[in-house]
Amino acid sequence: MFPTETVYGLGANALNAKAVRGIFRAKGRPTDNPLIVHLRDAGDLPRVARDIPALGLRLAEAFWPGPLTLVLPKHPRVPKVTTAGLDTVAVRVPSLPWARRLIEAAGVPIAAPSANLSGRPSLTTPGHLVRELKGKVDILLLGGKSRIGVESTVVDVVSSPPVLLRAGGLSVERLQSLVPDLRVLPLEASGAPDRETPPRSPGLKYRHYAPRARVTLFVGSPQRTRQALENRRRMLTREGCKVGLLVTRESGLRGPAVRVLGSRKAPDRFAFGLFHALRELDALGADEILVEGIPATGVGLAVMDRLRRAAGDRVVDLRVGPVVSGRGRAVAQVSQKARAIPPKGVRTPETHRPRKRPR
Ligand code: AMP
Ligand code: MG
Repeated sequence: MFPTETVYGLGANALNAKAVRGIFRAKGRPTDNPLIVHLRDAGDLPRVARDIPALGLRLAEAFWPGPLTLVLPKHPRVPKVTTAGLDTVAVRVPSLPWARRLIEAAGVPIAAPSANLSGRPSLTTPGHLVRELKGKVDILLLGGKSRIGVESTVVDVVSSPPVLLRAGGLSVERLQSLVPDLRVLPLEASGAPDRETPPRSPGLKYRHYAPRARVTLFVGSPQRTRQALENRRRMLTREGCKVGLLVTRESGLRGPAVRVLGSRKAPDRFAFGLFHALRELDALGADEILVEGIPATGVGLAVMDRLRRAAGDRVVDLRVGPVVSGRGRAVAQVSQKARAIPPKGVRTPETHRPRKRPR
């Protein structure tokens, strides 16, 4: 378990099937969700990949070390368990000096998913990390707060045109400067499990990043969002629920169970605090966390992707139609669910559905 500039990773020798199986076990990660292989530098690429497309080399040159993962044709040396049976391998060179020194000292490529237990918010701060993983892994290397706070951007450069598989710490805008034909799926579609076709990036089919509390995400202007957040907070509080809020400065909302993650204009700040704040609100015992969405530009795209996955179907879109005092259709839909929420401590199948999380 070691720090990187994106989030903390849980690592093992990528070329050793037994060691890699240990990662899946410790995290409770489904074995069909492949791992990212971390290299010391791009010179090590031939150890894990072959027939590397020219675009892959150009992107590596431009953005490594950094928060970009490339999906490349796999070298036969990489065991199947690392790539979950795929003939491609996801590779990245982290920029945090600690992480690179660790890979160098190990002398082997390191397979490392995010260090969190599967389905839970990623880990970006040492305190939460120790609480979640103490006793479950051999070594905890602590290195302060993760500078970026969301995972790497994943790009499949084997497909033509290349496809963005996961928004992350490197913005799509910067990628597009080198890959103008990059295929980017709309946010709303990217997480939806499609029963017909297997997802290209297996991790996308799972519910992810979820705290224990229900998450409801509000998308719209600061004014509409503020009004909708206040309405729902009032209603839930009346019904005895404990409510946490994750908002920007523009919302003007404050309070003990409110976490303010900077301005809508600075998505980097939101990304930096996101997973820590979700875990903090969980620790305060929130039954529901209400989140103000931010514009999906720059790292904001990765933030909104994570929030949509954490919220599942609980997204209130305030951008369409008039919304007056919570009587908009989307708000009303969520409100109906909320009315069924019993006072704290009472569980019903309707309001406390077990989450479909990967084990
Ligand atoms: P995590 O390790 O939690 O940061 O997740 C890694 C992400 O990379 C998941 O969404 C995986 O599905 C994705 N990934 C890893 N290897 C591949 C691959 N060979 N092809 C496509 N996606 C991959
Ligand atoms: Mg993860």
